[in-house]
Amino acid sequence: MTGNTLIYRGSLKSCNYRCSYCPFSKRRTSARELEQDRAQWFSFLQSFPGQAAASGIRALLIAPYGEALIHPWYWEGLAHISACQNIDAVGAQTNLSFPLEPSLSRFTEHGGIKKKLRLWATFHPEMTTAEAFAGQCRRLFAAGISLCAGAVGVPKHKNLIQTLRRMLPAEIYLWINKMDGLGRPYTDEEQSAFLQIDPYFLRELAPVPSDKAQCAGRLFLEGNGSTRTCNISPPLPARSKIPDIPVPLPEPSCSRRLCSCYLAYGGRDNFLNRILFGPYPLFRIPRRPKAVFLDIEGTLLVQQNPGRPSQIPKNILAGIKALSFENIPLYFATTLPLREARKRCRPIWDLFSGGIFAGGAHIVQNAKTRELYYYLDQTDLSKLSTLEQNLHFCTLTYAHQGRPYKITLHRARHNPWRPEEIQALEQTIPWLRSPNIRYFTEQNCLQILSAKANKAAGVRTICSWLNISPREAAAAGDSPEDIGMLKLCGEPPYHPE
Ligand code: SF4
Repeated sequence: MTGNTLIYRGSLKSCNYRCSYCPFSKRRTSARELEQDRAQWFSFLQSFPGQAAASGIRALLIAPYGEALIHPWYWEGLAHISACQNIDAVGAQTNLSFPLEPSLSRFTEHGGIKKKLRLWATFHPEMTTAEAFAGQCRRLFAAGISLCAGAVGVPKHKNLIQTLRRMLPAEIYLWINKMDGLGRPYTDEEQSAFLQIDPYFLRELAPVPSDKAQCAGRLFLEGNGSTRTCNISPPLPARSKIPDIPVPLPEPSCSRRLCSCYLAYGGRDNFLNRILFGPYPLFRIPRRPKAVFLDIEGTLLVQQNPGRPSQIPKNILAGIKALSFENIPLYFATTLPLREARKRCRPIWDLFSGGIFAGGAHIVQNAKTRELYYYLDQTDLSKLSTLEQNLHFCTLTYAHQGRPYKITLHRARHNPWRPEEIQALEQTIPWLRSPNIRYFTEQNCLQILSAKANKAAGVRTICSWLNISPREAAAAGDSPEDIGMLKLCGEPPYHPE
């Protein structure tokens, strides 16, 4: 079960590091301010279990302006929250400078559940060495803590970040954030070097048009009670002076054109974030499924301008390339026949290992080294042609070696099939009622397939060829035809994105 994510910012604005570019490093915090932050945190903790349950919050990320984990009360609070039954994940952004043993002990002494803990660690080359930072990452990893590590993609730090990559276990993802203020695009050489380190780096460079409809499941909360949908969206109307969680979560609000950083685009509820980073993508810890099945129309291909053919948006393309750089086998899962799918997905065709085509009637693995068809052998097509004129459709038959496996009754776009017309069709063509046949409408098309053919069955077949369980795979789609496949892979039910 997945839920909403709360991002706690508190009021802490101080840090033990003094990085030259960071405004918070220059700010001194008084003992009074620290005490205020501590008091706000504890007041938040008190009301958290009830409010989180009522607002569907199942994950909490501390994303302070300064460094929180050097203060023991944050470890204590993380422990309490992790112990809440309805909470799946807790974590914090950190520079990793906290003392490891005492901090983890404090966490466990207060009932913390280690397997729910996730750390987002940022490397600050001005303040620590790659050896020290990687050493702390390795110790946390050895202690069973999930974490990601990363750095800002400063071109002059390229070699150092490469060194850091070599020092980290392969399981720890090392992300690179694009450098704001670079003042120029990355050179091809810089881009390819960073991409070698972070297979997801192209996502940092691709523009992500804002869409607040994907932001309903998270909330940023400050120590003074103010809230925002994301770190770059405007404050929501004030409702409290203390950090408590509004129930229900407020409607998202956004005035941005682009979601320009990971805390923004990485927290959106969409199929890419779920496939790349699991149900709580803001922790930035890759999910790395063993195979990925993707619907085409409405999922990979999106109509960006009315009247224009649908295209693969740049941010989706960057995500697909990330999966491919990670060597995760990709499969199409579409009602389109293979030839049409190839035509529409030419820019990404070679990144895929095969697919479930024609609604599951044609399954292909690795350039047809393995292939399976479910045929429509008992169909008599002659009757269809007699109905074409009266019911205003044309028949498209997809066949392999003369045996049909998919029939599409295609109508003009403005003339979708009505239920009474389908009923009339059924009465005239008895084989449509055969238990060996299934049919469904898709906009202006009526698709007829073998009853054995569907996307879920296709996923099962390919997973058996790969020797994996469908639960180890990920899938995305946006139509009723995708429901079985999504359920099989343990994905949340589809909703149009
Ligand atoms: S800028 Fe923030 S609130 Fe707006 S759409 Fe992007 S992630 Fe959502």
